[in-house]
Amino acid sequence: MARVVILGAGVMGLGAASRALRLGHEVTVIEAAPEPGGMAAHFDLAGLSIERFYHFICKSDATTFEVLRELGIEDRLRWRLTSMGYFTHGCVYPWGNPLALLTFPHLGPIEKLRYAALMFVSVKRERWDSLERVDARDWITRWCGESVYRKLWDRLFALKFYEYADDISASWIWTRVKRIGRSRRSMMQEELGYLEGGSETLVSALVKDIETRGGHLALGEAAVNVTTANGRVSGVRTTKTLHPAEAVISTVPTPLLCDLMPDLNAAELAAYAAIANIGVVCVVLKLRKSASPHFWVNIVDPKINVPGIIEFSNLRPTGDDVVVFVPFYMPVTNALWPRDNDAFLSDAMRAVRRVNPSVTDADLIAHHVGRLRHAQPVCPPGFAAKLPPVQTSVPGLQIADTCFYYPEDRGISESLRLGRAMADAVGARP
Ligand SMILES: Cc1cc2nc3c(=O)[nH]c(=O)nc-3n(C[C@H](O)[C@H](O)[C@H](O)COP(=O)(O)OP(=O)(O)OC[C@H]3O[C@@H](n4cnc5c(N)ncnc54)[C@H](O)[C@@H]3O)c2cc1C
Repeated sequence: MARVVILGAGVMGLGAASRALRLGHEVTVIEAAPEPGGMAAHFDLAGLSIERFYHFICKSDATTFEVLRELGIEDRLRWRLTSMGYFTHGCVYPWGNPLALLTFPHLGPIEKLRYAALMFVSVKRERWDSLERVDARDWITRWCGESVYRKLWDRLFALKFYEYADDISASWIWTRVKRIGRSRRSMMQEELGYLEGGSETLVSALVKDIETRGGHLALGEAAVNVTTANGRVSGVRTTKTLHPAEAVISTVPTPLLCDLMPDLNAAELAAYAAIANIGVVCVVLKLRKSASPHFWVNIVDPKINVPGIIEFSNLRPTGDDVVVFVPFYMPVTNALWPRDNDAFLSDAMRAVRRVNPSVTDADLIAHHVGRLRHAQPVCPPGFAAKLPPVQTSVPGLQIADTCFYYPEDRGISESLRLGRAMADAVGARP
């Protein structure tokens, strides 16, 4: 079997490692951060262990269920009836079911019918080929009309994608609508999942599985470059040492690859360099008072500069405390990105207070501001044709990140699935 070196100990890298070990390979995982988990890692929020970024599980997350079973922790999966709200014109309205749409006062009857038709078709459809070259804005406008796009979507897109807002693939949006739309107890009732103990439960179980099977995790050790010999991959040089390998699986964000993989051909490097990512400044608030009964509230309000707030404790119970995530997505070139943490905290509290004016600064128990430069790949129309193959031109070297399972959006289940598929594709020692 092969010596496999995996770059990145997010769930894709850990999933690949666990699988490769089960297939009999020798495995080392190299992770630049001091802890494993990547986007699914936890931190301590004033005594509460919580994920850096909110995670919900949907009923279609098949690989997550398979991995939980394999690790013997399927009993940690919980389901909860959840709801969504829409904050607009100064009020939170229920959202996400036919009755909510019927009673929503800011759309006319024809607008509601057209919106309902788009949602219905999106949840039911299975194929995405015909949407692949279509822009999300054009697609939504064609179904619902310009006025609905303006009222419901325009600001959400603008505050997530900024200059990319009019260049997002319809198939990418469709998979998001479908994933949430299918995670329901009934037509009227959304149902989402979480792991008892948070995403850390999965990360810890994967790490334990890897270590039990003789795999090695090199934490706090960044890969510097992938080496080749005789036309195939030969190892990974890190900040600490050289790890020889017959197979290398990279799961680090593709914008970082150009420096790491000098032996890829110019076309491959150009393809990776062309994938844009946006960052996120994620404010996590521990509050004494709830902002709303909903898990997720979309916000369309000219005074608020976030597209929504996520009251995570309405999904995963966190004792007496209320936990709210306020994610400020933006390209890292945006003038707002370098602002200090206090500026983001103050905007986050303003958003919460706007949704629920009875929340005051005195209700803030603790907060955390985390930043991630490569938080969301930007997938424009025609993106599928722009993605290089996972198996690179260098034998033994596979590369992927969260955009390689397009049109699916980033997700734990999809990262696990692709990581496992890459492990399956590792050949025996040549
Ligand atoms: C705000 C937000 C909300 C989300 N919500 C959900 C949700 O509700 N449900 C869901 O399923 N998913 C959600 N996700 C997505 C989910 O977290 C990701 O899809 C998944 O965790 C990605 O795992 P990964 O291993 O593919 O990537 P990552 O977690 O990014 O792992 C890549 C790893 O590579 C490491 N690395 C980088 N450079 C180097 C180097 N030179 N050498 C070694 N290591 C390196 C990084 O430190 C990182 O640990 C969300 C993500 C974000 C940001």
